[in-house]
Amino acid sequence: MNKEEMEDHLNHIKAQYALYEERPFEITIARGIPSTNQLKLSEALINETKIENWYSDDELDIRNYGGLFGIEEARKLFGTLLNTTIEETFVGGNSSLQLMYATLNHLMYTASNPWSKEETVKFICPSPGYDRHWFMLEHLGIEMIPVELTGKGPDMETVEKLVSQDPSIKGMFIVPTYNNPTGETVSDEVVDRLAQMHSASEDFVILWDNAYVVHHLSELKEEAKDILEACKSAGNPERVIQYVSTSKMTLPGSGVAAIGASTKRMNELALDFSKQLISFDKINQKRHVLFLKDRETIDDLMSKHAEILAPKFEWVDAILSAYFHGERSSFVKWTKPNGGYFVHLTTQDGCAAEIVQRMKDIGIELTPANAAYPYGINARDNSIRLAPSFAKLDDLEIAMEALCVCIEMVTLEKILID
Ligand code: PMP
Repeated sequence: MNKEEMEDHLNHIKAQYALYEERPFEITIARGIPSTNQLKLSEALINETKIENWYSDDELDIRNYGGLFGIEEARKLFGTLLNTTIEETFVGGNSSLQLMYATLNHLMYTASNPWSKEETVKFICPSPGYDRHWFMLEHLGIEMIPVELTGKGPDMETVEKLVSQDPSIKGMFIVPTYNNPTGETVSDEVVDRLAQMHSASEDFVILWDNAYVVHHLSELKEEAKDILEACKSAGNPERVIQYVSTSKMTLPGSGVAAIGASTKRMNELALDFSKQLISFDKINQKRHVLFLKDRETIDDLMSKHAEILAPKFEWVDAILSAYFHGERSSFVKWTKPNGGYFVHLTTQDGCAAEIVQRMKDIGIELTPANAAYPYGINARDNSIRLAPSFAKLDDLEIAMEALCVCIEMVTLEKILID
């Protein structure tokens, strides 16, 4: 298009946007929330899972206090997700984020060599990453260093350089499978390099948030290599602490979360938890074991989630593909994940915040632009996360059409000004 054609086209798009302004929508594709149809898949967890035996395999009365590490059968079941033994598995309450926060809080303040004694504490933050990880670090006063993701995990050359040189870098977060929001899974090579790399800090730790470990969208199932095993082989068994939860298997409001780590790490963490509570909700743990049973049953349930979720991801891709091809393919790039809950858009530089604002102005809520970067700061202003899970298909279609209009409008305006 020459300049005149571009201006004509922009006017045409603006007219379309003006129609949206006249009758704003009320749609959100901001957060990775399961839809009501997905929640229905686990109604039987509450309504049909009858507890006939109030005792756990390790003879705890699940109605009573006790069993801080979780009931044995739950530790066993979560061990199948974490590749850990019963002793290496700790089963907590309904939120893995809470377990991550408790871990960081422990390492900062109550560990035998607390990080807070040092002037600065820094973390490596593979970006674009999960905004709630960044909120946690910021809240605890941990300085964040963004490191770019490559499509197979973080840029390891940069990670190795930083971690081997700076003793104030105490750790890093990673979402190894179907990263929030880029959808990528770490390669075997990245796992090995993370396990083996030299760290200037003696107690460097990797918080391995495997929130999407079994959350495939199709038969193309990605799996990250066993990090604890790799760390053990490299002589760094204490380096990794893994997290999973059933938030997006059963019910996010009433699920179960777990930690997997070396027994030494686990005992330290459990000691810290013992100052916070007597025990987590063992009845819910038992219910989850009766409902989820084993890996096969979990995988069956996850494929039912995929049946509901996959069409939404297909819509997102189909609508973006229909708009942004040929001449306009440089306006935006997007991910086509094989699992997880998100699609990540890379817009032209300087466009993302304006696109999200224009969407907000017509009643469509997206995650704040660039939120996937530490402190929400991304000098390129080119990052938008889409969370298509919660919206109904027809709302999602409307939101995606409007998003394409906003992307075109903002990008053309920018090109014409530049
Ligand atoms: N980690 C990641 C990477 C997530 O995307 C989410 C949910 N959006 C969570 C953790 C939340 O986990 P939980 O519900 O177990 O606290």
